[in-house]
Amino acid sequence: MKTSLRKCLKCQEYTLEESCPRCGSMSVIATPPKFSPEDKYGNYRRRLRKERGDGYGVH
Ligand SMILES: [Zn+2]
Repeated sequence: MKTSLRKCLKCQEYTLEESCPRCGSMSVIATPPKFSPEDKYGNYRRRLRKERGDGYGVH
């Protein structure tokens, strides 16, 4: 995929064009924020396992 999703900041319209089809303003690439709750819980689980001592061999 070469096309990136873009978004008009003026009318919050998603588009694939560099300019908003609705108002003609420049759109910006809509990059979703990197947020992974699974990693957070993974770390938490690993720490728990380590504290309980039943995660032997798991780094
Ligand atoms: Zn717009």
